[in-house]
Amino acid sequence: MRNNQFCGSCKGKIIPSSWGRALFCPHCGRTIYLRLNPAIIPAVTWNDKLLLTCYADHHISYYALIVGFTEIGETLEGTVRREVKEETGLSAKDIRYYKF
Ligand SMILES: [Zn+2]
Repeated sequence: MRNNQFCGSCKGKIIPSSWGRALFCPHCGRTIYLRLNPAIIPAVTWNDKLLLTCYADHHISYYALIVGFTEIGETLEGTVRREVKEETGLSAKDIRYYKF
């Protein structure tokens, strides 16, 4: 909401819509839908081991799960395959959902 205060069509002040998942311009009637950034956090496992990554530049000294944003036209499973490949060089298989 902080980044979306004025209508891109008429420059009028916009307000939250009555149903809460969009913004509304009472001046021109335009509905502005909030941008979604779907992302994945896969747990890459091998037997009872969980794969963690760390940054190569050593300025950040903690381990983390692989994460990534889904690109336009990409499935969530495709995001998992791409991010795992990009960050580890491994090929992700047997992709299953744990929780939503
Ligand atoms: Zn407007």
